[in-house]
Amino acid sequence: MAAAVSGPGGLGRRVTGALSGLTRALTHTSAALAADLGSALARAGEAVGELAGRDREPGVLRLRVLILSDERGRPLTSEAKVRPALDRAETVLRAEAGIRTRVLSVDTITEPAPAEALDPHANRRLLLDDVLLGRTAWYHRHLDEYADPDTVGAPVTVIVVRQITGRTTGCSLGVNADWVIVQASLFDRARDHTYDETVLVHELGHALNLPHTRDRENLMFPSSSPPRDVRGTRLQRWQAAVVQSNRHVVPGRPVRG
Ligand SMILES: [Zn+2]
Repeated sequence: MAAAVSGPGGLGRRVTGALSGLTRALTHTSAALAADLGSALARAGEAVGELAGRDREPGVLRLRVLILSDERGRPLTSEAKVRPALDRAETVLRAEAGIRTRVLSVDTITEPAPAEALDPHANRRLLLDDVLLGRTAWYHRHLDEYADPDTVGAPVTVIVVRQITGRTTGCSLGVNADWVIVQASLFDRARDHTYDETVLVHELGHALNLPHTRDRENLMFPSSSPPRDVRGTRLQRWQAAVVQSNRHVVPGRPVRG
């Protein structure tokens, strides 16, 4: 059952919620596109030099992590368990895209999360849940605590959930959202058939506007099957250029020669 909106209010509240969700998404998306275009135009001529790291310090992607807790208030994972995947993201994005990451915070929300936040849908259904059905309201309540007025350089928040519907273990709404979701089992080293450090950085790739590719060695290859068939972490030059000109990446300062 799609018990989309709980509590009193009925249809009126549902419609109002849907409209405000839609407005938020549209405003957000148009701002994002404008920012990406603006920075792309401003920096088009610098891309090659930046890729080589010659005349600018690396840009910085700022990250936050929110770890949810289950119905009994038990955290789904811990900062120590997530840390290797964050370190992997730093290593991959530094080597392949020439940017750095800065983890601003890793927070555990001890308040029990509702089922739709713990076990969310993926992809298009998650987008519908977000824009029309208000099923991601709980995420937004906690994301809003970090409300960042800046469109350029806004951090990406990684939300650790329990179980995403189907075989998906991570999901991003791309430019539509400043947050991605990843499943807690990715960070449990004791479970080698689910432990996968590449998923977090793959979802960050989507949040930075990267689409999927067909190359298994590439970070944006859609699937990854631990322990034997984990996706690669390479990025091509055009992908690096997309990442560097993304609105989430704070441009590096020019290096004085
Ligand atoms: Zn993907």
